[in-house]
Amino acid sequence: MQFDNSYARLPERFHTHLRPTPVSVPSLIRINESLATELGIDPAWLASREGIAMMAGNQLPEGTEPIATVYAGHQFGHFNPQLGDGRAILLGEVLNDQNERFDLQLKGSGPTPYSRQGDGRAPLGPVLREYLISEAMAAMGVPTSRTLGAVTSGDVVYREQAEPGAVLTRVAKSHIRIGTFEFFAARQDTAAIRLLTEHVLTRHYPDHTGSDNPAFALLNSAIQSQASLVAQWQGLGFIHGVMNTDNMLLSGETIDYGPCAFMDTYHPNTVFSSIDNMGRYQYRNQPPIAHWNLAALGHTLISQLAQDEKDAMRLAQEAIDQFPVIYESAWYEMMNAKLGVPSNTDRSMSTDFLKLLEDQKVDFTLAFRSLCDLAEGSTDVQDALALPDATITQVFDPKEPRFEAWLSRWRNNLDDGQILNMKQHNPLVIPRNHLVEAAIASAVYEEDFEPFHLLLDAVTRPFESNTATPSFILPPRDDQQVTRTFCGT
Ligand code: AMP
Ligand code: MG
Repeated sequence: MQFDNSYARLPERFHTHLRPTPVSVPSLIRINESLATELGIDPAWLASREGIAMMAGNQLPEGTEPIATVYAGHQFGHFNPQLGDGRAILLGEVLNDQNERFDLQLKGSGPTPYSRQGDGRAPLGPVLREYLISEAMAAMGVPTSRTLGAVTSGDVVYREQAEPGAVLTRVAKSHIRIGTFEFFAARQDTAAIRLLTEHVLTRHYPDHTGSDNPAFALLNSAIQSQASLVAQWQGLGFIHGVMNTDNMLLSGETIDYGPCAFMDTYHPNTVFSSIDNMGRYQYRNQPPIAHWNLAALGHTLISQLAQDEKDAMRLAQEAIDQFPVIYESAWYEMMNAKLGVPSNTDRSMSTDFLKLLEDQKVDFTLAFRSLCDLAEGSTDVQDALALPDATITQVFDPKEPRFEAWLSRWRNNLDDGQILNMKQHNPLVIPRNHLVEAAIASAVYEEDFEPFHLLLDAVTRPFESNTATPSFILPPRDDQQVTRTFCGT
């Protein structure tokens, strides 16, 4: 592995140098062979005793420079000036053979100066959840942190009850958050903000490194990448659950798979997280919350945007005001691709479809996927999805008059070129919450990891119909529904 630890070279106030706390008996759950290969890491080495020792934090390879990074953040709208990697340690930055840079981070690797009351550890359940959902997201083409592998620790972690502990190896383009900027802005450390701005531009937006106004370029780039990211979430029915500013990366990758979940039946008010009492982060709020978070980022850059504060405010406002426009256009483009219609199709084609799904309480994923088959000439939804009889009503009722009208209007707008790509925008298999929970329960309570492995294999081939079995495709029966998720920190 080739390391070049640029973040560790930033001044001392950006992080704390420390090593992971070893675990008792590390045991491999799984490694991600294809990701390892992409990073230039030999999968056989990663699965070896030494590789497992690294993923457990027990023994680090040469070239690593472990640190915990500091940040702040708005949590559910309230500013917390002091957060940081409380249960994560950044081992270093790996360069692959294309010279691309990736953070290698352990999650659940022991306490740090930022752990507050926490133990720095991760229970097995949340580790498996993150593995499944982050890799499903990657397979669906969504920018995201990845999972290189996971191990059990042999130690017990105490939450509401005693649970087996685990450590996840996370890979991301960086772990720099809006909250990282907020940490320094709250301390009026403008030198740090300047360094961080340059660092992020170099790593993530290199086309803008020579910009006259680096902070303005950074803000605009972050706005673009967040708008595009959240549009993709909306298109998949993904609900992040904790869109705090410390959980939003400047790189535009999805991070922090805590209480996140995919929606089964479509409803814009859907919320899963047990701690989101007010529904702040419900499905329909994700775009405006991203906008709010970017305004927080804009605030941290005031000292950099212009010499005169009024000018700086004006520039920040100008950039932030563009978010809804950029988001709308990303959303519209995504919806047209999902529907297989040309890019100039009336917006109501999308919004009417969603309204129908809402009124008929239809499964979001299967509704869109069935359109792919209908577009390819199948006249029957049930046929198209090759599903057993009883499930047809769980998709939708194409004979309902309003639906029929929509379908015929849609058929008239279908675009041959777009039809070919429709399936790539409409997954058949998503990590449905009831399946994720069942896989976790087997592993945690019965030490049976087989359901986890099978589910991971299925969700990392989201678009293929020939490999998926009905149990991975179908929405939950009423008695299988899991409507609450927990951070599990
Ligand atoms: P999260 O809700 O996962 O974004 O975490 C919010 C903050 O709590 C972050 O600063 C974490 O590092 C910290 N934290 C979460 N769980 C733990 C834990 N088990 N031990 C120490 N710190 C934690
Ligand atoms: Mg977090």
